[in-house]
Amino acid sequence: MRYGFVIDHERCIGCHACTVACKEEHQVPVGVFRTWVKYVETGQFPDTRRHFGVLRCNHCDDAPCIEICPTHSLFRRSDGIVDFDNQRCIGCKSCMQACPYDALYIDPNSNTAAKCNFCAHRIENNMEPACVIVCPTQAIMAGDLDNPGSKTGAVIASRNTSVRKPEKGTLPKLHYVGIHPDLLQPAQLAKQNGFLWADRREMPTTSGSFNAATTREVYDVSHTAPWGWKIAAYLWTKSIAAGALLVAAILMGIFGLQGSVVNVISPAIALIAVTATAALLVFDLKRPDRFFYLLTKPNLRSWLVLGGYILMIYGALAAAWLSFGILHDSVPAAVVWAAAVFAAGTAGYSAFLFAQARGRDFWRHKWFFCWQLLVQAFMAGAAVLVVASLELLHPGAVASLRILLESSLVLAAVNLLVELVLPRRTDEERFAKRFLISGAAGRRFWVAAVILGLLCPLVLTVLPNAVHAATGIAAVLALYGLFWFEYLWLRAGQSAPLS
Ligand code: SF4
Repeated sequence: MRYGFVIDHERCIGCHACTVACKEEHQVPVGVFRTWVKYVETGQFPDTRRHFGVLRCNHCDDAPCIEICPTHSLFRRSDGIVDFDNQRCIGCKSCMQACPYDALYIDPNSNTAAKCNFCAHRIENNMEPACVIVCPTQAIMAGDLDNPGSKTGAVIASRNTSVRKPEKGTLPKLHYVGIHPDLLQPAQLAKQNGFLWADRREMPTTSGSFNAATTREVYDVSHTAPWGWKIAAYLWTKSIAAGALLVAAILMGIFGLQGSVVNVISPAIALIAVTATAALLVFDLKRPDRFFYLLTKPNLRSWLVLGGYILMIYGALAAAWLSFGILHDSVPAAVVWAAAVFAAGTAGYSAFLFAQARGRDFWRHKWFFCWQLLVQAFMAGAAVLVVASLELLHPGAVASLRILLESSLVLAAVNLLVELVLPRRTDEERFAKRFLISGAAGRRFWVAAVILGLLCPLVLTVLPNAVHAATGIAAVLALYGLFWFEYLWLRAGQSAPLS
């Protein structure tokens, strides 16, 4: 059995009765929606036409929200319904990044994720979902898609139907009849400053400019970006944490450096930064009181869980390194090697977490992103150790660190060029790239992340006979630029509309 919906837009009159019935059935708070009706308009006055799109969870057969959910809060029932258990949800919002359809929201009362659950409680009592019952034109049908004798099975067998974003490979079980194709391509729609009856809360700035011939979005519900500065700061502190010991291992192995910088300062910085990283992750949860569910109810397919384990092991290795450094003035090679491996894992695992966010095409180049995170970790580690070594008046360390900082800045500049020329395959990716380099984020990207944060430190480190102070300024600028890069790159990935 595979429960699914068919929605016939040749019958839909855009009355919102389904939205209201759903709100009543599930006590959905004001401002969030399990199902909603979007309006777009086509044509040029007086020859215009309005089209409706009833949007909600697609109860995907291959649901990315289930894969990424770290605590099995989202799950697929044996009848095909994708349901959720808000008693397990920690409010990490990763499901909102994974779903390509904007189907999930955070319930402002419980601070946990919620969405259409096919009115599973009604199905169990042989009743149809509330939206099906209330629809005045019988445009919404629910039933077993595997049963050709059911109403839904019969429509799918006899009519042309379409699903949203089939290229995502999620195998949606919500089939549309007669929906306007532009309702299925949100990144293509022309945005206006306001909707029919309201101003927009966030005005996307990089879509095609308003053009009467383009399909225009005239009514929708608001969807804000789930991840903000705390996740950008988490990426930043994680780069510092990983880089501190990666760079220390190189200083010991290649430059033969010993002493307090590598034995004590580096692991101390790594420990502080890894603790800050974990604190930011917990602070960003909508239910921080449930953070330990990552240990007690883990989904081992979620990179949020795997990344959490990597961070914990890395923290323990940094503590061991620090203990040996303080107590014995030297660190065993086994600890250095193990810490270097887990430092690389700490830097790079986020690439796999972001790639699980199937809703965000811009983040899905996981191998390139993993390499980018490793380079960023080297840069952040070298920069933070330059600052510490200057404080300790350790010129030997500063000279070696300057070479590492310069090399990582060169690699970061090459990565930036690749980022700019990397072919973007989908509308959403192109939308996000425009947002980053020429849209709302463009000025801050070029000034803070590229000129001040990359090119200036690069010039300062390659200056012949540069004084240590110049290397110190370069290090501070590199850390400043890295934060802006993470923040704007994160915002760009979430800039393209999903619905
Ligand atoms: Fe529903 Fe989105 Fe999950 Fe698919 S990915 S089952 S549409 S919440």
